[in-house]
Amino acid sequence: MIAKLHTEWTVRDICQGFIYNEYEGKGLLGLNGKLTIQPKYQRHYIYNDGKKDVAVIDSLLKEYPLGLIYFNKTKDGQFEVLDGQQRITSFGRFVTGKLTILFNGRETDFTGLPEEKKELVLNSKLVVFVCEGEEGEILEWFQTINIVGVKLNDQEKRNAVFCGPFVDAAKAVFSNTLNANIQKWSHYIRGDVKRQDYLEKALQWISNAKGVSVDKYMSCYRYNTSIAELESYFNSVIDWIAGTFQMDDYMCGLEWGRLYEEYHSKHYDLIQLNNRVRELLLDESIGKCGNIYEYVLGGEAEPRLLEVRIFEDSTKKLVYTRQTALAKEQGISNCPLCALSNDSNRTRIYKIGEMDADHVTAWSRGGATSIENCQMLCKTHNRAKGNK
Ligand SMILES: [Zn+2]
Repeated sequence: MIAKLHTEWTVRDICQGFIYNEYEGKGLLGLNGKLTIQPKYQRHYIYNDGKKDVAVIDSLLKEYPLGLIYFNKTKDGQFEVLDGQQRITSFGRFVTGKLTILFNGRETDFTGLPEEKKELVLNSKLVVFVCEGEEGEILEWFQTINIVGVKLNDQEKRNAVFCGPFVDAAKAVFSNTLNANIQKWSHYIRGDVKRQDYLEKALQWISNAKGVSVDKYMSCYRYNTSIAELESYFNSVIDWIAGTFQMDDYMCGLEWGRLYEEYHSKHYDLIQLNNRVRELLLDESIGKCGNIYEYVLGGEAEPRLLEVRIFEDSTKKLVYTRQTALAKEQGISNCPLCALSNDSNRTRIYKIGEMDADHVTAWSRGGATSIENCQMLCKTHNRAKGNK
């Protein structure tokens, strides 16, 4: 791969024939048609949050450097932005009047700047590395560039490395904010559509089901034009969740792919299942409400999933005091289980630090984490009971 440093291009040069697609949020062309600003392996323009894009203009006005920009020179002598798309799109939008900034305390677009400031922006020189080489080596190298501003996340990098018809087709479905299904999916999947979180989830689910890594799956399908398998598996998971459980906030972001694999072929009484979920969602002693779904799917065999909260210190103290006073009166141990024994512990009075709180009726059998269901046991007996 050859890399050549260019310092002759100015903001004016790059903005020559700048085209920005408002609808898709993409800067498309610059450098008088010679530069493709958003090639396939680039992500959407995500600087238009009124902060990062304005910061780019601020830097130009203060004559700060914008940092290194990388172009890839294609075989037909055209250029593609490898790194710097966000910065170029920001100043391109500004110069073409699509972005306003605060200047001397008032909102203004490019035309509202004093002449000398306009010239300053337009004449700003950029530092551009132009690379020429095989697609593979450029993509590999691109993966290692430390992006200025927002770093690429794992899925964005995978999209770059495995760019091709499969990624294009998958993005049209899973990274498309105009897809009407996103609203429905957002009940189960957490993240940002534009940052590829939904696509990543879809790929993780199918890859896990096939027992391969996401990288492996993407490289196998890279040149496929169809995403039928990916889409149909994803829809099966979503349909299964929607058909099994009533919607709830706690469902978002769970490991639905894994749960689908484990439980989708089992049959449940759905009315009973959902009644139980609702009951558990109201139980304040449950620490991990999100795990309620897995807990009921697994036939309530793993109470550990729910991280049931332990008793409050104040409850323990109160129960200890009550229990100890009664035990002293009767001349027996304040551990009710020791009191039943025939050994020397039968009359032993434990200190509070030697005891633990226990659910009289186990939580898994419906016992609440409340003072009425709390007893103090010596550590030995509590451990023995817990292991049963
Ligand atoms: Zn005991």
